[in-house]
Amino acid sequence: MPQYDFRCQSCGQSFSLIFKTYAAYDAAEPRCSACGAVAVLRVISRVSIAKVERDYSGMSANEMLSVLEGGDEKQVDAMFRQVGESAPATGPAVIPNRTGESNDGSSDTGEDDS
Ligand SMILES: [Zn+2]
Repeated sequence: MPQYDFRCQSCGQSFSLIFKTYAAYDAAEPRCSACGAVAVLRVISRVSIAKVERDYSGMSANEMLSVLEGGDEKQVDAMFRQVGESAPATGPAVIPNRTGESNDGSSDTGEDDS
């Protein structure tokens, strides 16, 4: 599905529109989501919808933002895993359990164990 980003020339609001087909985009008349102005400028977005496997570690902050704004959970999840930053609060983030419940045997000092 083609997604288009627009910026309102009247109030500066940025917004995205998703069209089912390119024909639908051709027929549509984009309006500002904030003020309803038709004087909107199409912004070329680098959001890739089809490709899932990307090298997110080499992305700029703006590109990451584009992925987030794209709303594709798979892409967002993959991005955060590759980048290695803390995952957002939403979504099934895989966070290592560090409560120490399972002893992996690397340390066997049991002095403090009560
Ligand atoms: Zn506007």
